[in-house]
Amino acid sequence: MQQHLPRFQMCYKNESRWQKLIGWLLWPINRTYMTQYTTVMFGKVYFPSREQMANWGPSQVYSTLRHEFVHLMDAKRFPLWFELSYLFLLPIGLTFRAYWEWRGYTQTLLVEYEQTGSISPNTKTYILNRFVGADYGWMFPFRKPLERWMEHTCQHIQDGIITGPYPYCAWGKETPSNSTHS
Ligand SMILES: [Zn+2]
Repeated sequence: MQQHLPRFQMCYKNESRWQKLIGWLLWPINRTYMTQYTTVMFGKVYFPSREQMANWGPSQVYSTLRHEFVHLMDAKRFPLWFELSYLFLLPIGLTFRAYWEWRGYTQTLLVEYEQTGSISPNTKTYILNRFVGADYGWMFPFRKPLERWMEHTCQHIQDGIITGPYPYCAWGKETPSNSTHS
């Protein structure tokens, strides 16, 4: 991550004044922002706390980092759009957020496939619920098409069409300077 994102750092919400302020502002609509959510901001990843990270364990932390890596790279490629779509609770913002999150959760699915050789129905349901439910402000409340995309994405992962850690950089092979993609 540091290779692609020189300013990358792992941070903790309970040690950040900014995050405490955001957590306080979000309290009326989201009571678990500080304790359950990992967030990217200013090119850095904010875990809830060192304690929570220890609870999750290496496998979940790794999966989370891979998901957040996609967000950080997307934010780098599309700076303004990425930030704005998370700030505003407008339909256009939600649609964009769903788009970014779909890319992030594709990575989550990919990590599970890499680690276990399959993708469990529980993971699929968990991810679908995040899109259609309140967690991200009902960012894409249409379960049926989402289920079809989910199956399509999982099939692509199993067929090796989608590989990590980011669609624009293969494992260790490319660096941003010699990438043939733009
Ligand atoms: Zn995400």
